[in-house]
Amino acid sequence: YERLGVPVEMVDRIRVRELVPGMRVDDLRGGRFCERDGYGDPLAALAGLGAAARLAGAHLVEGAAATALLREGDRVIGVRTAHGDVRSERVLVATGCWTAALCATAAVGVPIWAYRRSIMESGPLPALMKIPLVVEWESGFHFRPKERVQRFAMPNLTADGRVEKGPATPPAAYPAAFEPLEVPPSLEPWVRARAAWRHPAFADLRIVDAWSCYYEMTPDDHPVVGAVPGVRGLYLAAGFSGHGFMHSPAIAQLVVEEMLDGKARTLDIRDLSLERFITGRRPFTATVL
Ligand SMILES: Cc1cc2nc3c(=O)[nH]c(=O)nc-3n(C[C@H](O)[C@H](O)[C@H](O)COP(=O)(O)OP(=O)(O)OC[C@H]3O[C@@H](n4cnc5c(N)ncnc54)[C@H](O)[C@@H]3O)c2cc1C
Repeated sequence: YERLGVPVEMVDRIRVRELVPGMRVDDLRGGRFCERDGYGDPLAALAGLGAAARLAGAHLVEGAAATALLREGDRVIGVRTAHGDVRSERVLVATGCWTAALCATAAVGVPIWAYRRSIMESGPLPALMKIPLVVEWESGFHFRPKERVQRFAMPNLTADGRVEKGPATPPAAYPAAFEPLEVPPSLEPWVRARAAWRHPAFADLRIVDAWSCYYEMTPDDHPVVGAVPGVRGLYLAAGFSGHGFMHSPAIAQLVVEEMLDGKARTLDIRDLSLERFITGRRPFTATVL
């Protein structure tokens, strides 16, 4: 963190308790805290980026599914959409957990699959309106205020009730089947118990809303970014494995550099290439929250 100038502090449990008054800390060694961290609204951010792109001259077409990539030999020549073909010298595929299916239309294998995760929201808890986002690293359970309510994210549970922070194994083939988007019934009692253990303000926790959506996993929990080996003009930016919102400004900058200049200049992103899954190279330690 110091090398990159990010003001993250290691904090002891006394400081943790000052940051989140009343929270149980007797099972902690300490924590990490960055006072410049925060949270953003992804849909508002997307609307803002879309508006900025339009102002800069981009032509955005919504509601038009890309049904296939158009490939001629070793190069991509465009995209087939429900509204007709679009010819292009370069195509960036940034379709989240749907990327494997789209890339398969150009005979490009991409190991990205959908992994269901859930979110819950409490009734009003005004006493906790000012606390920072709290993450239990070992379980992946986390909570933060959203105005007067608390929003919880949690790991999945295995059939025998164990915590599963990420998928146990990748699927056998891609594109893989999608699990239905239903919140597993075992999660709410687990969240209520875990929350009550962590903070007495959650003793009578009332969950008023819950929903599931998909993480876009790769086998090493890191995204696939950059030029696709062997298919000129085809680029990927997908598979952020549940961390893509915060990475999106940097990834956009880097992938555009690679598309326009042939190589990302701001950072070396070669380790993020699809090449690692073709050759079996493993530059990253898998980690998911
Ligand atoms: C419960 C949960 C909590 C999360 N929390 C965080 C967090 O705290 N911080 C963080 O950074 N990230 C978080 N994430 C992850 C983050 O939401 C994703 O990593 C991010 O949205 C990925 O962005 P993306 O643009 O790659 O894919 P997406 O956001 O999935 O966008 C892909 C888009 O492509 C479109 N598309 C797909 N197929 C086609 C097609 N054939 N033609 C045309 N369009 C197509 C889709 O409709 C979609 O709009 C969380 C995710 C979940 C599920």
